[in-house]
Amino acid sequence: MKFLDLEAQYQSIKKDIDKAITEVIHTSSFVMGKQVAELEEQIAAYVGTKYAVGFNSGSDALTASLIALGITKDDEVIVPSFTYIATAEAAAIAGGKIVFVDVDKDTFNVDPTEIKKAITPNTKAIIPVHLYGQPANMDEIMAIAKDHKLYVIEDAAQAIGAEWDGQKVGSFGDTGCFSFFPTKNLGAYGDGGMITTDNKDVAEFLKQWRIHGQSKKYYTDFVGASSRLDTMQAAILLAKLPYLDRWNDQRRETAKQYNTGLKNAIDITIPLVLPKAKHVYHQYTIKPKYRDELKKSLAENDIPSMIYYPKPLHQQRAYVAALKHQLNRSDKLCNQVLSLPIYPELNKFHITQIITSINNAAKK
Ligand SMILES: *Cc1c(COP(=O)(O)O)cnc(C)c1O
Repeated sequence: MKFLDLEAQYQSIKKDIDKAITEVIHTSSFVMGKQVAELEEQIAAYVGTKYAVGFNSGSDALTASLIALGITKDDEVIVPSFTYIATAEAAAIAGGKIVFVDVDKDTFNVDPTEIKKAITPNTKAIIPVHLYGQPANMDEIMAIAKDHKLYVIEDAAQAIGAEWDGQKVGSFGDTGCFSFFPTKNLGAYGDGGMITTDNKDVAEFLKQWRIHGQSKKYYTDFVGASSRLDTMQAAILLAKLPYLDRWNDQRRETAKQYNTGLKNAIDITIPLVLPKAKHVYHQYTIKPKYRDELKKSLAENDIPSMIYYPKPLHQQRAYVAALKHQLNRSDKLCNQVLSLPIYPELNKFHITQIITSINNAAKK
């Protein structure tokens, strides 16, 4: 069994993908071809923002967002410790001071109470992560941001299509950052990313920043970078976007089967979804009491599972000097979490097999 089967997905939409790729090759417009603007338009419409700007990765989308919002030296940026490294890295590259806060042990998302505790006169921004595809509590986070005049940069890399209270993630904050890394719910065939925003000035800055700060070719107004989304990737993503909602529905269906099959399993905690959250299950993550034993036992039955993430960010060598509050839950979760295979092409037979294996392992 595979943890993720991108080849199966390709086979299911081969015609669309091949056509899109061939078209790009024949136009020879590999950089900033018309597909980039088309995708930006469609993603903005999908997420519900006025603008969307393509980037070469989700990581650069985060970094560029912070730079566009003016985060600089001594500005404190609040980041959950239990996430992928790119979330914190962006704040560091922009030159801000990272302030790590703890997450909720049941939703895995940043705990709004911890955000409040971490705010100082130097706090400028919060980066909530919609981890595993479940939106963070955007009611509370946006209220805190408003009270303290803080920017909100949503890390929606794992959550395209997810909703909080009927509204799509990426449309709450000053910017929303998406990743099209091949394994994400909407994956390119290489790196890719996107920023969504309602702020015209921010959108214009970003469009210029990703091309060396140039307003026109060879005329640079400010220091930027080379961070464009490839035409080829944009074309592939345009071909895939019409399937995204169906794929996310299939992920939710699989999660439902897991929930039913595992709710009575001994020593397994299934994921908690908040009532206002529409989860897109980038990952289905359980907390088994004996995690490493279960992982090994599943592997013996040819069932792959993954640990996202084995080490919290505040414990990473490059980030130990960052400010941190009480982070016991992030520390603990790294020893507890186990993600099971979940992707649209995973069939019922496999799901049943995984559920049975987990239940059998627990009995031993
Ligand atoms: C994937 C991911 C990113 C970075 O995206 P890339 O496109 O790989 O640079 C950022 N944050 C989170 C939470 C992610 O999962």
